[in-house]
Amino acid sequence: APYLLQVRNLKKHYVSKSGFLGRKNPVVKAVDGIDLNIRKGEILGLVGESGCGKSTLGRSILRLIQPSSGNIVFEGKDILSYNHEQMRLMRKEMQIIFQDSGAALNPRMTVGEILGAPLDIFGLAKEEEKERRIIELLELVGLNKAYVNRFPHEFSGGQKQRIGIARALAVQPKLIVCDEPVSALDVSVRAQILNLMKELKHKFELTYLFISHDLSVVHHLCDRIAVMYLGKIVEIADRDKLYRNPSHPYTRTLLSAIPNPDPELKRERIVLEGDVPNPANPPSGCPFHTRCPYRMDRCSAQAPYLKQMGEGHSVSCHLVDTSL
Ligand code: SF4
Ligand code: MG
Repeated sequence: APYLLQVRNLKKHYVSKSGFLGRKNPVVKAVDGIDLNIRKGEILGLVGESGCGKSTLGRSILRLIQPSSGNIVFEGKDILSYNHEQMRLMRKEMQIIFQDSGAALNPRMTVGEILGAPLDIFGLAKEEEKERRIIELLELVGLNKAYVNRFPHEFSGGQKQRIGIARALAVQPKLIVCDEPVSALDVSVRAQILNLMKELKHKFELTYLFISHDLSVVHHLCDRIAVMYLGKIVEIADRDKLYRNPSHPYTRTLLSAIPNPDPELKRERIVLEGDVPNPANPPSGCPFHTRCPYRMDRCSAQAPYLKQMGEGHSVSCHLVDTSL
């Protein structure tokens, strides 16, 4: 199958512990019916403002968060029905890299121990091969093998992210969910980490789901891009199609805020009104209607759904509804 991962109608609804406008324990639809296919070997970007559900989706796919309903099909098998032990074994196939790698590294373990742990857990290296493998992992991410006995606090942010990448690679996964992997790093370090990730992706034929709020980063890296708003995908397209012909007003807004990658493209500057609505109380109809400069009467009454508007390009907006 051309798809490594297929997500079908995935939902993560949960009861909020904080009230909202006098309503007690409202239901938050953090991920609200997502369909997404990830092709083997691609980098699929997932973008949107913070709070739109990107991280929840990424974690739900790995079942670090238990989804409410839907299907997650990895290499033809629905892993949402997997039990704890089956899921534990899936960690060899699917890994995650976090924004704050420092926090994800045990401060009391040396780098050698951190990288050795997954090898032990899955029995991936015999005792006498382990050290060689750990050093190989360090070198793969551009770290000196002399660092093997150091502790996480001795490293810079960029180096910690390299350790996080090495740890993910230790099990030789097929899919890596990268959750804002460079957002916490100094601008000067970002390009190095992104280049490293690109290089490793080619070397090991990896597939990435690359989560970011930064469309410039995503433009450099991704083959396809999905745009998320309030728990839903509102547009998905090949990278160049999305940048040349953004069709959802939200995508246009996000793109109008970044430096234009192609100076031949004229872009109007659209400024978004207001903040992301509280996901515990999403707007009726199109969830974007409270901020959309193109809203029409029907937008607050009727929710659009994702429709194909061209080869590999789907949009959820009444403006591009060709059925009328
Ligand atoms: Fe804007 Fe209406 Fe399209 Fe929603 S459906 S994005 S409100 S034009
Ligand atoms: Mg996030």
